[in-house]
Amino acid sequence: MDNATQRTAIVTGASRGIGRAIALRLAADGLAVTVNYAGSAAKAEETVAAIEANGGQAIAVQGDVADPPDVERLFQATLEAFGRIDVVVNSAGIMHMATIGSDNLETFDKTIATNLRGTYLVLAQAAQHLGEGGRIVALSSSVLAKSFPAYGPYIASKAGVEGLVHVLANEMRGRRITVNAVAPGPVATELFFNGKTEQQVEQIAALSPLERLGQPEEIASAVAFLAGPDGAWVNSQVIRVNGGFA
Ligand code: NDP
Repeated sequence: MDNATQRTAIVTGASRGIGRAIALRLAADGLAVTVNYAGSAAKAEETVAAIEANGGQAIAVQGDVADPPDVERLFQATLEAFGRIDVVVNSAGIMHMATIGSDNLETFDKTIATNLRGTYLVLAQAAQHLGEGGRIVALSSSVLAKSFPAYGPYIASKAGVEGLVHVLANEMRGRRITVNAVAPGPVATELFFNGKTEQQVEQIAALSPLERLGQPEEIASAVAFLAGPDGAWVNSQVIRVNGGFA
């Protein structure tokens, strides 16, 4: 397929976890994919290799989503490789626990930088480069509704992400570009397992009426819906994909 007809996607944080599953799924749906990562070059290359092994097209591009020149370079590299950008998914994110106390400002600043400033910069580049019919998806989190202790920085960052999504949807008026968020419940990835005992994992998994963790592929299915033809009329929404963890 030539550049004129091949749809393409940028997926941030696609070296591991949910972003990786999204990159694989969008590639399986026929999009050429840019696999962004922060530090895990080998894992990003594994994502690219898995896409290519299935007959798809992909490139890996390193870049910190909190860094404006990096994000600009991510979009430029995609345009150079594929000629156009149709879908942008911001999955890059971190989750560090800290109670609300002045001693924990470093965790707060780092979380806001990666999750909220990162989303802002990726949405800004998406708004600049997407053409008519474009789709933008940002990852939020269902934990917003729980207000668990020590989730302050993370929940604050994701509340901001949801705010940005609704505003950008309005700013895209007249361009036929949709902007949505997908807010997963607990999903079996490093981000979720880090720092938790087996018992804590079981307790959290039991909170959903389906009594299990989500799998990255189940989040990718929701993103693929929003990025594909069936999602065309869904705009400015937060889709909570969580097995009923409400
Ligand atoms: P993982 O920890 O499994 O993967 C995180 C990914 O983000 C990696 O690819 C990592 O790259 C990348 N990343 C981290 N920081 C940056 C940065 N500054 N710039 C670019 N890339 C970065 O996380 P998940 O897949 O679980 O999470 C994906 C998204 O889903 C996040 O936004 C998270 O908040 C959200 N989410 C996750 C839930 C869960 O239970 N897992 C629940 C709800 C929401 P590298 O490998 O190079 O470090």
